Amino acid sequence: MPLPAALLARLKRRGILQEGEEEEVIAESYDDDSKTTSTIRKQASNAAGAPGCPNKWNPFHSCVEFCYDYWREGTPENRLPVEYNRRRLRMLKKYPLPNGWKEVYDPGVARHYYWSTETDEVSWLSPVHPKAIIG
Ligand SMILES: [Zn+2]
Repeated sequence: MPLPAALLARLKRRGILQEGEEEEVIAESYDDDSKTTSTIRKQASNAAGAPGCPNKWNPFHSCVEFCYDYWREGTPENRLPVEYNRRRLRMLKKYPLPNGWKEVYDPGVARHYYWSTETDEVSWLSPVHPKAIIG
């Protein structure tokens, strides 16, 4: 599916789209771009920033309009590599989540993390995994 010509021109004009990046932009363009969507999304999202921004957890980065426009929703969960899911499920089978912990998908970094609903702690691995860093 080619990018709509008007959108393409607009992205090029704004310097967002560089040569050879069309593929990636297409992949991010699920919904039609409209300021309304972006505004609603921004209001709905929490302090973590733009849902799809890979830098949103970086404490030195605060998401700006560009993050919402460019990254949009990030990587949909159903497009994660099979191998990633296989390893994740194997890890969870070996180190099941303790009570009160939930798996959360982050479309910005295309990874799941684990969150304690009780203590608000988070971890990239199951919290009972020997290499888990709980923060
Ligand atoms: Zn950002």
